[in-house]
Amino acid sequence: MNILVINAGSSSLKYQLLNPETQQVLAKGLCERIGIDGKFTYKPEGKQAVKEADVAMPTHNEAIKAVLDALVDKDNGVIGSMKEIDAVGHRVVHGGEKFAKSVLITGEVMAAIEECNPLAPLHNPANIIGIKACQALMPDTPMVAVFDTAFHQTMPAEAYMYALPYEYYEKDKVRRYGFHGTSHKYVTQQAAAMLGKPLEELKLISCHLGNGSSIAAVDGGKSVDTSMGFTPLAGLPMGTRCGDIDAGILQYLMNKYGMDIDKMLNVLNKKSGVEGLSCVSSDFRDLETAAEKGDQKAALAQKKFAYEVRKYVGAYAAAMGGVDAVIFTAGVGENDKTIRSMVCKGLEYMGLKVDEAANDVRGKETVISAADSKVKVLLIPTNEELMIAIDTAALAK
Ligand code: AMP
Repeated sequence: MNILVINAGSSSLKYQLLNPETQQVLAKGLCERIGIDGKFTYKPEGKQAVKEADVAMPTHNEAIKAVLDALVDKDNGVIGSMKEIDAVGHRVVHGGEKFAKSVLITGEVMAAIEECNPLAPLHNPANIIGIKACQALMPDTPMVAVFDTAFHQTMPAEAYMYALPYEYYEKDKVRRYGFHGTSHKYVTQQAAAMLGKPLEELKLISCHLGNGSSIAAVDGGKSVDTSMGFTPLAGLPMGTRCGDIDAGILQYLMNKYGMDIDKMLNVLNKKSGVEGLSCVSSDFRDLETAAEKGDQKAALAQKKFAYEVRKYVGAYAAAMGGVDAVIFTAGVGENDKTIRSMVCKGLEYMGLKVDEAANDVRGKETVISAADSKVKVLLIPTNEELMIAIDTAALAK
């Protein structure tokens, strides 16, 4: 089965054609600057050809058309015709409380996704445009929506409720939703396979540490808590997002500098996190280089990040009454041995010990805890596209 996975943003569109049974990726690429001038990248796997071209993309329709043309292209294509695409899986950021799992897209589902737009005003409308563009060009191909929030719908009320007046939940749906669900789901499934135990018997803490970061407590395969909240601004400090802060800071800074809420949120989303703290960069590679040269603020940003991750690990072990394994994934989690080591230092009291030689590794599925560590520490590269393709294939069948 060939599944086309689409991740549509407001001006970009990532795609991958893959077979979820063999896990073979046939082709992948990126459409950028949609609505501006259009830049198209196409990489057929196993072939040398990488096509980067300027393609006019006034809307997402032209972007999808460019993807389909490339996939069936005589020279660089990977399939004979569009009929060989069995289904399309769309990443959708917010499914609110309506979607606890992936669904086949119908008119009703589209309306329900649109109802979630106010909860993710930057993301959901773009996801919907991507779905509509695909439907226009492939009207007979089944389409599936896979939600970032769905995996966390198993959280109990004490984890997802904020201590705000109850009416804001009832009337306005203000609650913790959590994100990166597809990634947390994938790596926890992989962890069970690596540990050779049923997922239902495991207490896992999944640390998705990238440009955006979140942690999930996964008990018996179900998310029971997660660090992101009503929006992806909450929880850990991230590349440029502040994570959890005292809401009183907003009033203080807005009054002092005459900022309106949009300006304030721009600071919290785009100018904070490790970039804001370090005054160096949002990229952990730059932080490491600067810290090695003696930059105190870069070193502080690394320490702050690792400290907050460690606090969540402790908190989620407490929430689940124990932990069998801690998983590191995403850009920082997969590549940054310094951060992994800093996070784990000090967790020996709970039976977690990293083997520093085993930790000297990047982007590979492997165990990095010491042989006598009661709590296993796993490095598992995430694969959201594969997870989306697996869900899509199951529903399209
Ligand atoms: P993601 O959002 O998962 O794509 O992660 C992107 C982030 O991963 C980048 O901003 C970097 O901070 C980090 N990253 C990528 N490669 C490395 C590396 N080799 N060492 C440390 N951090 C890395």
